[in-house]
Amino acid sequence: RSKSAGRNCFTVYDEAMSAELEARNTLEGDLRDAIARCLFEVHYQPYFDVETGRRRGAEALVRWRHPVRGLIPPDQFIPLAEETGLIVPLGEWIIRQACDDATLWPADTMVSINLSPVQFKQAELFDVIETTLRNSGLSAERLEIEITESVLLERACENLVFMERLSDLGVSLALDDFGTGYSSLSCLTTFPFDKIKIDKSFMGNLSAQYKSAAIISSIVTLARGLGMSVTAEGVETIEQLDGLKQLGVNFAQGYLLGRPVPTAELEKQPVIFRPRRDAA
Ligand code: C2E
Ligand code: MG
Ligand code: MG
Ligand code: MG
Repeated sequence: RSKSAGRNCFTVYDEAMSAELEARNTLEGDLRDAIARCLFEVHYQPYFDVETGRRRGAEALVRWRHPVRGLIPPDQFIPLAEETGLIVPLGEWIIRQACDDATLWPADTMVSINLSPVQFKQAELFDVIETTLRNSGLSAERLEIEITESVLLERACENLVFMERLSDLGVSLALDDFGTGYSSLSCLTTFPFDKIKIDKSFMGNLSAQYKSAAIISSIVTLARGLGMSVTAEGVETIEQLDGLKQLGVNFAQGYLLGRPVPTAELEKQPVIFRPRRDAA
């Protein structure tokens, strides 16, 4: 009995597997087609100086405009794009699009672009970025590259050379989703980061979660000592923003301050964030 149950289980598992494989193949075909036809949109989420409320930049976040499924968020196709290598042409398109869009923004506004570990392995990436900057006319000082700790686990030497070349060019480097990975703090001293982005999982209820506040405060101290700035991502409430201000965080990004929007919409938004506080 147990044997046949086992066999049944195996069959069900097998069918689930092939259904998953089929869905994956469909998605991969769609993705290839979408890249050829440029069916992607780059949206931009602004970030603001916590002290002054001034907008300092915006992060490029890609979306896929699928003919049937509508707007697909990056978490649903970036992993596949990475596995298949399609992230390379897609990533280059995103870099060009974001630099072109940013040239229309006020000159004190930066654009931040996320790079995946797979793109990081491309020897041509530096030339792509340099050429794109030159063609778009965007100054290197207005470009920031965001990478996660996972990028740094492999090929440390090559990565260091690449990051130093970017840094020499004037491009800023931000360590994204800080606090979620497991790399050691030494990556902060080894690599030429300008900024640490604290992962949104640390936001929560800042005032009640004294442990999160302790962690954020330590990150701020660490960053100051290393000459880096700190951004908090995932800021959704005024209370969180107030807490971050007290903790000395430099920049805030999150739904409270602005959702990711197309460039045309970003350009219409006020460059100063003034929180609407409900009268007590
Ligand atoms: P990320 O770089 O850490 O981006 C932050 C994510 O948090 C974005 O999700 C953003 O929409 C979301 N977010 C912003 N504010 C809030 C908030 O207040 N609350 C909550 N709950 N979420 C907030 P999104 O756009 O779905 O992107 C997810 C991830 O996909 C990004 O994480 C990034 O790792 C990746 N990604 C997005 N665009 C690109 C790209 O162009 N290239 C690469 N390689 N990866 C990208
Ligand atoms: Mg990011
Ligand atoms: Mg992040
Ligand atoms: Mg993230």
